[in-house]
Amino acid sequence: MGGIAEIARLACNQTTHDSVHFTIAMSPPPATGRPRTCRACGKKFDYPVKGGAATRHHCEDCVVIPPEIRKTFERLNTRVGQLELQVRSLEAKIAAPAPAAGTK
Ligand SMILES: [Zn+2]
Repeated sequence: MGGIAEIARLACNQTTHDSVHFTIAMSPPPATGRPRTCRACGKKFDYPVKGGAATRHHCEDCVVIPPEIRKTFERLNTRVGQLELQVRSLEAKIAAPAPAAGTK
């Protein structure tokens, strides 16, 4: 329990990008760069990385997508983020002890 396996497990639970997060979680942290989240796909990446194509807001995969198409990705990614929050708050509600409701 714990350690890298736990981090990988948590990362995998987070979104539908299972394999991407798993790969990132298993990679050793680079010497440079700060962790960032891609606006378009939600992938975690480090920026700046020497020789990397990524920008402040977009990972190296999304930086090559035409901006007008990337905008759609960003919209969808925002929506997915909102839905994830909703799911989490609903899960918390279910996990919380239910108040005595509707005794018949
Ligand atoms: Zn991306």
